[in-house]
This record gives sequence, structure tokens and C-alpha cells, in this order.
Amino acid sequence: MTERTPLMAGNWKSNLNHHEAVVLVQKLAWTLSDKKHDYAKSEVVVIPPFTDIRSVQTLVDGDHLQIGYGAQDVSEHDGGAYTGEISAAMLAKLGCSYVVVGHSERREYHGETDAVVNTKAGKTLAAGMTPIVCVGEGLEVRQSGEHVGYTLGQVDGSLEGLTAEQVAGLVIAYEPVWAIGTGEVATPEDAQEVCAAIRGRLAETWGAETAAATRILYGGSVKAQNISSIMAKPDVDGALVGGASLQAEEFAAIARFY
Ligand code: PEP
Repeated sequence: MTERTPLMAGNWKSNLNHHEAVVLVQKLAWTLSDKKHDYAKSEVVVIPPFTDIRSVQTLVDGDHLQIGYGAQDVSEHDGGAYTGEISAAMLAKLGCSYVVVGHSERREYHGETDAVVNTKAGKTLAAGMTPIVCVGEGLEVRQSGEHVGYTLGQVDGSLEGLTAEQVAGLVIAYEPVWAIGTGEVATPEDAQEVCAAIRGRLAETWGAETAAATRILYGGSVKAQNISSIMAKPDVDGALVGGASLQAEEFAAIARFY
């Protein structure tokens, strides 16, 4: 079976200016080093606001940190007359490895459809970065019992037209919207049910080898205290962490789930 290195990605959302970003990354790196974190056992990535990325890059490069970094969104366009947009090429130039696409907050507050997410995933891949493609159902869908079918529909739409090689290299984050920022964590069994279904859909569409290689994360109120039970599930390969990634010691403890 393909080895999938666990990935812990901290989505800072619209928090922390560039000075605060540097302090947090320094503290995170120091804590991980102090605890002798083995980066081969879990990759650690921070996803700051756009305005912090250059400062994080300088710190990571200057101190040769093993912490990776990425962006929370990317433009659908390659550049030009699109005021306020940040292109994939700009993010790649800043050394970003990852780009979150289709976070539920972008889908909900900015009307991003699967087609938009699909375009953004394609632009991210074309620029040599890894998309973290977010999917997941809201509370009403969960209560109707349609959460698996709904989420697989988002997977189909968001990944449409990508090659098996591209899908094998990207990351999918299953984030039930009702568990994001609410303190309401899905049970490990809930996470496993949908992550396994996503892997099954990848196998149907792109083949078993691809499905075995793609990393699938869980996201939604992950904390140091609940990460181990979630990571014990076979189809969960890491976590997309919001609130808890803003505290260096908490996020370091999540990274050290093993
Ligand atoms: C997120 O924003 O992707 C997230 C999972 O947030 P939180 O961990 O705060 O629920």
C-alpha cells in the first residue's frame, strides 16, 4: 500500500498580522524542535492570510524551518484586470506549497461553486502547488442523512477533468460545516465514514492506485485532545485545523498526535 505521510495544516483564516505571524511560526518551530518532532511522521503546514506569506517565507527560508506554508485561496484567473485577486503564479513565487480551495467559508460567503473550486484547483496544480480541496455537508444535509452523497457530489464537481496523477498528488479535506468553529467535533466514526467513501469514489473514477495515494484530511474543531482518536481511523490522513492552529503549543501537540 502507498505510504501517506500525515499532514497537519493550520488554517489561520483572517487572523494575525505579519508581525504576529512571525511570532507564531517561531514559537511553533521552537516547540516542535523542543519536543523532537519527527516531520516524517507528520508534515506541518501553516496557511496564513495573504499579507503574512512573505514574512513567513523569509522566516522559513532564513531559519531553514521544516514547516511548510500555503495560501487560503487563489484567483481563478492567471492575472490581469482582476482587482484584488492573487494569482497562482504569485503564490508559487512566494514559495507556497499548498493552496486551500473551496473552504466552506468561501463557498458560503463568496458563492464559490464546485466549478469555481475546480478551476482554482487546476490553476494551483498548473503553478506547481498542491491544492487542499475542501468538501463537506451542512447541518441540514447531515440531518437528512444525505451527507455521503452530497459530499461525493462536491468531490466529483471539484476534481472534474483532473488526471489520475494530479488527483494522487492533491489533498482533500472533509470538513462537515456543522463542526467548523463550533466545538462540535464529528466522531472518529463520522470522519471515517465519509473519508472512506471519498477514497472509494476516487478509486471508481481514477483507479485504486490513485485512491491509495491521495491524502484525505478531516477538519472541524480538531484539538490536541481529540486528534489521536481521529487519526486512528484508516482513511484519515491528517487534519485541517482552524482555531487550534492559532496557538503554537496546541497546534504542535496536534502535529505530534503519534
Ligand atoms: C477550518 O476552518 O477549516 C476548521 C476546521 O476550523 P476549526 O478547526 O476552528 O473548526
